[in-house]
Order: sequence, then structure tokens, then C-alpha cells
Amino acid sequence: MIHSLSGKIAIVTGGNSGIGRSITEVLRERGARVHVLDLDAGGEDTHRCDVTDQDAVKQTIDRIAREAGRLDILINNAGIGFIGTLEQTREVDMDRLFAVNVKGVYNCALAAIGYLKESRGVIINMASIASTIGIAERFAYSMSKGAVLTMTYSIAKDYLSFGVRCNSISPARVHTPFVDQYLASNYAGREAEMFERLSATQPIGRMGKPEEVAYLAAYLCSDEAAFITGTDFPIDGGYIKL
Ligand code: NAD
Repeated sequence: MIHSLSGKIAIVTGGNSGIGRSITEVLRERGARVHVLDLDAGGEDTHRCDVTDQDAVKQTIDRIAREAGRLDILINNAGIGFIGTLEQTREVDMDRLFAVNVKGVYNCALAAIGYLKESRGVIINMASIASTIGIAERFAYSMSKGAVLTMTYSIAKDYLSFGVRCNSISPARVHTPFVDQYLASNYAGREAEMFERLSATQPIGRMGKPEEVAYLAAYLCSDEAAFITGTDFPIDGGYIKL
């Protein structure tokens, strides 16, 4: 099996939907026991936990790691979007974006790092192409994802000597409920037309598939990626460079 994760204990935040769900499935296929932290419980090994709640995150991650006896992988994938320019962004929008996309990553990394130091484990943070390039009307979202990128570099640097690797993945548009909700709330009745238009803005001519992100995540979690830390991986159908 390529990139075997046999015996690894993993946590995926936001694993009930989209990219997180695909990562959960692929990691399980490759032998990991995967626990999902999401707003709703339900699926196998899914724990109801809002990543913005530091106490709840700590309790949940402590429980998972103690019961399993270890923790090897943390995928900080939970995130929310917001469409708006500077003038269209209210303080409440900014606070919500930062609570989920930035503080959520900090909360989970903080709760997990002690266990990851013991296992010489891996953190992957879900950033975005908006972390590094200008995307129209993504003022607060871009800032929050920029913070995810710099958090990745800080963690990678500070925990390198403990054997912990930390990288981020920066997708362009990937077809998930995240995109469907955006189209439904902004282009009701014209979703199909706008879907085609958005797909055409990516040089490769289509949106990414969640599993394409998941395969990259699985590789970065594996021992075959042992030389890779402190790096961001765009997965963008050519969006940034072409
Ligand atoms: P999605 O909306 O399909 O899934 C997000 C999941 O996160 C959901 O299950 C949701 O319940 C969960 N979640 C949201 N807030 C949470 C909270 N406070 N606590 C716990 N769980 C919470 O989104 P997706 O498209 O799969 O995106 C996943 C990640 O990838 C996000 O961080 C997003 O910013 C990033 N991303 C997505 C795209 C894209 O085009 N889809 C592009 C670049 C980056």
C-alpha cells in the first residue's frame, strides 16, 4: 500500500464534509484510525466539538489521545468562508472568521502538541491560495488564511527539534458544500452558470476534487514525507503560477 498509515492515530477537524471528509476516508483506507472533530456528531469516531472552544477542544483531544495511548496526526481542516471587501466586512464577520480559521487551528495544535512531541507526529493545516495571492472580495478570509500559513511556519520551526513536522496545503477552488453554499446564497437560480464560470477561472479548466487534496494530505502524513516540514503546498490547477 502506498503511503501506509497503518497503526497511526489521527484527528481531522471539520471531517464531516468536503475536503475533511475525503481526508478522513483516505487516511482510513491507508490504515489510520481517524477521529473527526466537527460541529455535529454522528459518523464513526466523530466527536461533537467546536474548534473555537478551547476547553472543549482540550478535553476532546485529551480523551482521544489517552484512550488510544498516542496521537500521531492532526489535520486542522475546519474552516469557514466569507465574501466581502474591506468595506463589506463587519467586525462580527471578522471575529467569526478569526475565531474558526485562526483560533481554531491554534486551539487544536495547542491541545495536540504534547502528544505529537511524544510520537514525533505531524500537523497539516488547511490554508488556501488566498493565503498568498489577492482574491477579489476575500478580505477577512485571506487574512485568516494568511495567519494559518504563518502559524504553520512558526510551529514547524519551534518543534523541528522534537521531530514534529508541520506543513500546510493551499487549495484553489475545490468542489465541496463550501462552494455550493456560496453559489446558492450569492447566485440563486444561476448556480450552474456560475459553477461553469468559476471552473473556467482555474487554468486547468475545472475545480479540484476533495480526494485530490486528500491524497496530498495522506502523503504529507506518511513517513515517505519525512524530509518535508515548514512548507506550503498549493494544489490549484495552475491558479498561482500559470
Ligand atoms: P465544508 O464547508 O464542506 O466543510 C467544513 C467542515 O468544517 C464542515 O463539516 C463544518 O461543520 C466544519 N466546521 C466549521 N466550523 C467548525 C467549527 N467551529 N468547529 C468544528 N468544525 C467546524 O468546507 P471545505 O470546502 O471542505 O473546506 C475545508 C477547508 O479547506 C476549510 O478550511 C477551507 O477554508 C479550505 N479551503 C477550501 C477551498 C474550497 O474551494 N472548497 C479552497 C481553499 C481552502
